[in-house]
Amino acid sequence: FRMKIYHSAKLDLIGHLAAAVNHEIKNPLTTVRGMIHLLKDDPSLPNEKKESFFQIAMEEIDKIDRIVSDYLTFARPYPNKIEMLPIGQVLSESISIVKPLADQASVKIEIKEISHCTIPGDHSKFVQALVNILKNSIDALPNGGSIEIKAVIMNNLCSIHILDNGVGMSSEIISRLGEPYFTMTSNGTGLGMMVVFKIIESMKGKISINSELGTGTEVILSLPSS
Ligand code: ADP
Repeated sequence: FRMKIYHSAKLDLIGHLAAAVNHEIKNPLTTVRGMIHLLKDDPSLPNEKKESFFQIAMEEIDKIDRIVSDYLTFARPYPNKIEMLPIGQVLSESISIVKPLADQASVKIEIKEISHCTIPGDHSKFVQALVNILKNSIDALPNGGSIEIKAVIMNNLCSIHILDNGVGMSSEIISRLGEPYFTMTSNGTGLGMMVVFKIIESMKGKISINSELGTGTEVILSLPSS
């Protein structure tokens, strides 16, 4: 099936985000604090207990780190710096950022076709949007696989296709994409797609998603080009 999501109303929810992030960070911090106390208070703890408390604390710290970096992407206080971005260059840069993650997961990322598009936008934000989409595709390929990328230009509109042959999504999951904290993965923040929607919206672009459970997902970004 095919679902188009234009100028999502979900973005209204961003107003509530600061308070929610505060809450999301407080819980893992409380856990980290508790673990450090346990480690200090009982010097006779067996090594495996120490190791497990240490692991829990590290995982919670990583979670805080992910939430803060996802949040900062769209909450940066300074205004966008708009430049003309050559699509080939931005794609290569985004791919090189996720390359270590892809290699670790045995995922191959290939650019299949590239038209010469130049897209006006904030460089670091556009890269962030592409990185978030690529990371989701890698997450959708737990046993390895491939991600194919195309960029084609038609009538001053540049369409960027990111296709994976991963686990895919049900229509229910697709409809919740972009909702803050909606995640299906144990270590996800559920902020990734919200950030993508926000950034693409700010570039006057559109996002459409084709996905099928067990087959894979195609994310298409349509952006004004010049
Ligand atoms: P997170 O990645 O932190 O979970 P996102 O907002 O980026 O948050 O994604 C929300 C959910 O959407 C993911 O947990 C996943 O279930 C689903 N999803 C997003 N992209 C894909 C994809 N390419 N393939 C399968 N599922 C996806």
